[in-house]
Amino acid sequence: MREKRKVLAHHPNLIINFLNCNKHLYVGNLMVIDNQYFLLIPSHSANFNTCFYCGCIASDHDYAPPLQYLEFYLATKEPSEFLKIPSCNECYEHLKMCKAGSLDERKDFAKKRLAKKYDKALTIYEMWSKEELDGLDFSLRHSIAAGLQLGEEATNRLLFPGFKFEAAGLEHQVNYGPAQHFDVFGEQFTTFRDALDFASKAYRISKNTLKEYFADHDNSFEKAIIAIHKEVADKAFQKQLKTRCNQFAKQHKQAVIFVHKQVDRYLSEDEDMTIDEALTLLYETRVKPSLTR
Ligand SMILES: [Zn+2]
Repeated sequence: MREKRKVLAHHPNLIINFLNCNKHLYVGNLMVIDNQYFLLIPSHSANFNTCFYCGCIASDHDYAPPLQYLEFYLATKEPSEFLKIPSCNECYEHLKMCKAGSLDERKDFAKKRLAKKYDKALTIYEMWSKEELDGLDFSLRHSIAAGLQLGEEATNRLLFPGFKFEAAGLEHQVNYGPAQHFDVFGEQFTTFRDALDFASKAYRISKNTLKEYFADHDNSFEKAIIAIHKEVADKAFQKQLKTRCNQFAKQHKQAVIFVHKQVDRYLSEDEDMTIDEALTLLYETRVKPSLTR
C-alpha cells in the first residue's frame, strides 16, 4: 500500500483511477479526504514544528490543494502535490483565501499577504536604522523602534526559504530559486534595505527619492542614481543659463528673451559649446556689429 501511494503522489490521474476502483475510500468525509494528502515532514529535526512558509512556529496544517477543492484538482489534473503542510496560524488564516494547488503558488500567496499586512513596518525597517533613533523625542522613538523590530521580523519571514522535506517516503529538495542580489555599481547586497542604505549614503540621495526612482527605473539602483544625478545637473545648468543670460542682457542692453533664445539655439546646434562661448558668439555676431553701425 505504501509503495502504491508513492507512485500515485506524482500522477494525479492515477489517483483518480485508484479512487474510482476504491470508492469506499472516498466518501466525502473529511477524515478520509485527509488521507489523500501526504504529510510534509522536515528532513532535519531543526525544522520540526516550523511553518514551511515563514519559519514561525507551526500550529496548523495547510493543504495543497485546499480541502474544499480536492475534487476539482482530482478531476482537472491541475498541478498539485497533495501535501499537508505544517503552517503557523497566520499563514494558515491567509491561505484560506488561496485556491492554488501547488506548494510554490501557496508559498508565493502567503508571502504576498504577509508583505501586505506588514507593509508599514517593512517601510520603517527599510528607511530607518537604529542609530537614527537617538535624535528623536520619546514617543516617536518608541513607535519607530517598534516598527523597526516588527519590520525586521517580517523581513526574515518573507526571506524564509522553506526547508528540505520528505513526503510519502520521497525526499524533496526545496527549490530556493536564484538568490536575489541588489547591485549598486558593483557593490552587491542581499537585501533591498542594505542596498538602499548604502546607495543613499554613498551618493547622498534621500532614501525616499532613491526608492521612488528605483521603482521607476527597472528596479535598478544604477539607472536610478544616474537619472537623479542627471536631473540635478540639468537643474543646475538651467539655473546657471538663466543667470548668465540675465547678466548679459543687462550689460549689453538686450532683451532677456532674445539673449536666452539665441543662446539656446547655439547650444542645441553644438553640444560641446559652453554657456560663455555661446554668449561670446552672440556678442561677436549680433551685438558688436550693431554697435559699429
Ligand atoms: Zn507562517
